[in-house]
Amino acid sequence: MITCREATELHTAAEEGALTGAKKVFYDLHMKICPGCKCYRAQLHTTVDVLKGLPPEEPPADLVSLLASELDEKKS
Ligand SMILES: [Zn+2]
Repeated sequence: MITCREATELHTAAEEGALTGAKKVFYDLHMKICPGCKCYRAQLHTTVDVLKGLPPEEPPADLVSLLASELDEKKS
């Protein structure tokens, strides 16, 4: 049986489908019997979903006018 710590380290590999053989069996088994790691994995999924749903970062609204005034100052 693997420990919670080991299970945590295997989450990424499991997500990528890179987990094979005994490691996968132990990981799957651990996820079935350990509420803590199940919860952790669910949180991981939520975090990834939230990050995917975020819009691309917008520049500050006043950036254009800021740049424009900078340029104006240089001109004069
Ligand atoms: Zn665990």
